[in-house]
Amino acid sequence: MRPTPSAVPKAPAQIETDYLIVGAGAAGLAFADALITASDADVVLVDRRHGPGGHWNDAYPFVRLHQPSAFYGVNSRVLGSDSIDGTGPNAGFYQRATAAEICDYYQRVLEDLLASGQVRFFGMSYCARRGPDGCRLMSRLTGEATTVRVRRRVVDARYLETSIPMTHTRSFSAEPGARLIPVNDLVRPAGPASGYTVIGGGKTAMDACLWLLGSGVPPEVIRWIRPRDAWLLDRAYQQPLDLVPWLIEGVSLCLEAAAQAEDVSDLFGRLEACGQLVRLDPAVEPTMYRCATVSQDELASLQRIENVVRLGRVVHIAPDQIVLEDGSIPTGGGQVHVDCSAAGLRLAPARPVFADGRITLQQIRTCQPAFNAALIGYVEASRHHDTEKNLLCPPNPYPDTATDWIPATCTAQRALTAWLGDAELSAWMEQARLNAARGIGAHLTDPRMKSALARMFANAEPAVTKLQAFQAQAGRPGHGHQRRS
Ligand SMILES: Cc1cc2nc3c(=O)[nH]c(=O)nc-3n(C[C@H](O)[C@H](O)[C@H](O)COP(=O)(O)OP(=O)(O)OC[C@H]3O[C@@H](n4cnc5c(N)ncnc54)[C@H](O)[C@@H]3O)c2cc1C
Repeated sequence: MRPTPSAVPKAPAQIETDYLIVGAGAAGLAFADALITASDADVVLVDRRHGPGGHWNDAYPFVRLHQPSAFYGVNSRVLGSDSIDGTGPNAGFYQRATAAEICDYYQRVLEDLLASGQVRFFGMSYCARRGPDGCRLMSRLTGEATTVRVRRRVVDARYLETSIPMTHTRSFSAEPGARLIPVNDLVRPAGPASGYTVIGGGKTAMDACLWLLGSGVPPEVIRWIRPRDAWLLDRAYQQPLDLVPWLIEGVSLCLEAAAQAEDVSDLFGRLEACGQLVRLDPAVEPTMYRCATVSQDELASLQRIENVVRLGRVVHIAPDQIVLEDGSIPTGGGQVHVDCSAAGLRLAPARPVFADGRITLQQIRTCQPAFNAALIGYVEASRHHDTEKNLLCPPNPYPDTATDWIPATCTAQRALTAWLGDAELSAWMEQARLNAARGIGAHLTDPRMKSALARMFANAEPAVTKLQAFQAQAGRPGHGHQRRS
């Protein structure tokens, strides 16, 4: 009989393993899956939550992946059916899983990992006194301690842990008389509201607005507190498999824009003109970029909300007014204030992925956390020296400000060059379902792919040179500290 998570035996006082992975979210699971597929390593996987899947366990009920399921999850198991939606706001694009589907998927992934005989899982547990040779594993339920001795590496799969409204600590205060809810509670109204004030400029706030609009709330009744406007990605260019020519066209247009840009302002003008970055309000220059992805249909819906408050972040909500960094606005008992202000992607300084008995899972290719974790797992299993491993996996901090697009794209492009020069790694990438860009070879006769590849080859090198120059010019703000949208 296949073991299941609920059949995990009581932990002995001391255990040994090759790899201790701290964090069983998307990153920890994609890493574990790739590692054990490419090696016979023994793994202990730990999470302080009850089960696998990380933040998806506490996600708001109407959330979906922002990008296709076809390249999310782990390499060894398909998520969903890799089909293209025929109707709705995602029509014409690959399907996107709901939070419930993602949690179910990760439960099955964990069952696969346990069935391999190479992985043990400890839920409701955390690592105290963590060092390169192991940690003291504490049960949150019994307080029992287990010493984990690690033969090879401790894997930090929580370094970029996602912050979400349900579990974050708000940066503003609110008086009891003000109706303030986390976005999760929108589906559990205490009664009808005269208006909804959505707090936050990121993708969660966009999801809240779209859900309200889609549920029949008129746009005039929605007030949107947007401390920063964001550059957004158009979902049409984030499509894999049969639609991969679009993805490659998008990459080639970004590189062409970078190669031809005269300065940073011209770069963003060109990226917008070729459809690679989109914005909500043509009159407002975005200052934020966090990989949020929308379809043109969603963009048009969001643009119906005209009551946008740009007075900085919320500081305090009283029963009759909202105090913001740059002013105050009236509010009232009929208003429901919806907290969408959690940081989402964690901003943390880059550190070597492989160092001193430790692996720190980080972004490499932009906006692809599952792929990056799997890549690191494969590289760990297939290469011997940390110097080579770090060359293939340069850390690339999550972007936050608009100009972070520059170093993020530059680092990803340099990593791609290293991967393409490595035949074994290229072969792995071509069969990795998490690699959104796989399958180019099957589309070489497609005119869109042909011209995209020509544009890419012509512009790749000049683009990197130009981006490096812009990077020096723009500096690299926004890293190393948390920001809230
Ligand atoms: C609404 C939303 C939509 C998104 N859509 C997409 C998408 O379409 N495509 C995409 O690629 N990305 C998407 N993302 C990005 C998303 O954050 C990542 O895909 C991914 O889920 C992050 O996984 P993670 O493992 O890094 O972090 P988490 O999911 O936060 O997992 C970290 C885990 O570590 C555990 N942990 C932390 N500290 C400890 C400790 N000391 N001991 C034990 N365990 C610990 C936590 O309990 C948690 O389970 C989305 C994010 C959000 C919020």
